[in-house]
Amino acid sequence: MAGESRDLQEQNQLLNTEIQRRIDHLAAINRVASAVGQSLDLETTLQTALDAVLEVTPVEAAGISLVDEDAGELVLRAQRGWKGDFISDPMRVPLGTGISGQALIHDRVLITGDVSDDPRLAVPEFADEGVQAMALVPMHARGRVVGLLSVMSYRPYEFGEDEIGVLGNIADQVGVALDNARLYEDAKEQSSRLRAVLDSSGDAIIATDCRGTINLVNTAAEPLFDLQNGEIVGMSLHHAPLHPRLREGLQSALVGDRDSNTVYEVTLEDGRFLSVIVSPVFLQPPSATAHDCKGWVIVIRDVTHLHEAEQTRIDFIHAAAHDLRNPLGVTLGALAMLQRDLGDVTDLQREVIEIGIQGANRMQELIDNVLNLEHIESGVGLRYKPIDVRELLERGIVDIQPALQQRDQTLVVAVPDELPPLVGDMHWLYRALLNLLTNANKYTPAGGEIALGAYVQEDDLVIEVKDNGPGIPPDVQTRIFERFYRGPSSDQRVRGSGLGLAIVKSVVEHHGGRVFVQSQENAGSTFGMVFSLTDMARRAADFD
Ligand code: ADP
Repeated sequence: MAGESRDLQEQNQLLNTEIQRRIDHLAAINRVASAVGQSLDLETTLQTALDAVLEVTPVEAAGISLVDEDAGELVLRAQRGWKGDFISDPMRVPLGTGISGQALIHDRVLITGDVSDDPRLAVPEFADEGVQAMALVPMHARGRVVGLLSVMSYRPYEFGEDEIGVLGNIADQVGVALDNARLYEDAKEQSSRLRAVLDSSGDAIIATDCRGTINLVNTAAEPLFDLQNGEIVGMSLHHAPLHPRLREGLQSALVGDRDSNTVYEVTLEDGRFLSVIVSPVFLQPPSATAHDCKGWVIVIRDVTHLHEAEQTRIDFIHAAAHDLRNPLGVTLGALAMLQRDLGDVTDLQREVIEIGIQGANRMQELIDNVLNLEHIESGVGLRYKPIDVRELLERGIVDIQPALQQRDQTLVVAVPDELPPLVGDMHWLYRALLNLLTNANKYTPAGGEIALGAYVQEDDLVIEVKDNGPGIPPDVQTRIFERFYRGPSSDQRVRGSGLGLAIVKSVVEHHGGRVFVQSQENAGSTFGMVFSLTDMARRAADFD
């Protein structure tokens, strides 16, 4: 009876010891798991794993080696309990060689006894360690072997099956940690590389999330903010201490079309010109729906020097136009006199004089346009009074007729009987209208159709000229109102100076209005002048 109870006691004790051992195993695995979960620092994870390994096995030493695929080596990264230092100058074994190579190639736990005279040993100095038993456990991450956990005893020792199981578990946890740490390092490196690229840009770059919260500002962008207010990352663009003119443009760009870039220019009080491009960021191609927009990138470039160069060019052209006007007038007068009193000349001589007069007339036209633009831009001498829109259109229709007939084009006119008066300068409004009609006539092929219309839309009076000509590509549309800009596709035979639309724009803006173009390649163009009726009524009241 006493013997039976002793047996039972011993069995209980064994059971308790076993349970305790398993609890210890689980606790060790848990510790490694939580270290892996909490830290992206590889060193901490490796040391925690080695502590855990030495707790679950009654051996003296352990180490962790990682696969370096670029170098084709297995490199020791952490050691604990070893007699020699194999870390300062890390132990490296070419992949696939040595005892470790066997474990890696077969992706299996390898257990050895005394390694000192093992013929597979690739690192001779390791023989001095006097290892009597060793388990080499492969570590995995994303289905691949990424390293090896080595557990060494300086006394003969037999590793139990469940011990190997626990070691395998710990090894794989380290594998995952290693993978995470590498991904983290990669991400960190990429982010600092991106940062360096952004900071090396002379353009200011600001990135925001979809709602306009700033998440990146490069060095060049910092002077745009009043940084006395501290950090701007994390701040909404709407509240960021930005120059008000810059912010206004950004605010409307951010609520605007989310599929395309917004480009605008800002003039600051100190005379600087900033060109701003606001582009949506998509993780998928922009064909995706608007809610796929992941944020905005704003690139701001100081284009003051371009404006200065442009101004110098314009000043030069204006000066040249002024200086050319008088001698050209004299030449034209002389040619006209010659033509009148030609007397007895050959047909060829008559033709040469005709060509001379045509050339001089073209030059005169160009000079007139340059001076016209200068005149309208200065705003000097503009005479505003209420004018009848129908009368304005009638003048245009009459004057464009000969050109239309020459090209066999039809003009369709759609104007209501009643239209509110336009308060403006008849001479300049007529000039603007004629420029639009002339363009429609020039660019529409012979036999084409041109439509002239005027109508009231909400608070606007719109005058538009529509043609069924070649149309204008979108990237060209953004430039055609610039001075001297001529579309690349403009037929070389179509004469022009690139000033016609600049004059239209300037005239309309001097009347408080705006211009627009709607066009598609091969589907014609519509040019419009839009005037605010409220504005007109206010101006008209001044004449009552
Ligand atoms: P110009 O006609 O002297 O070249 P404008 O300033 O009037 O200069 O027009 C600028 C450019 O706009 C033209 O060179 C041409 O490419 C384009 N354009 C203007 N009107 C039309 C139109 N009705 N159809 C097609 N293209 C046009």
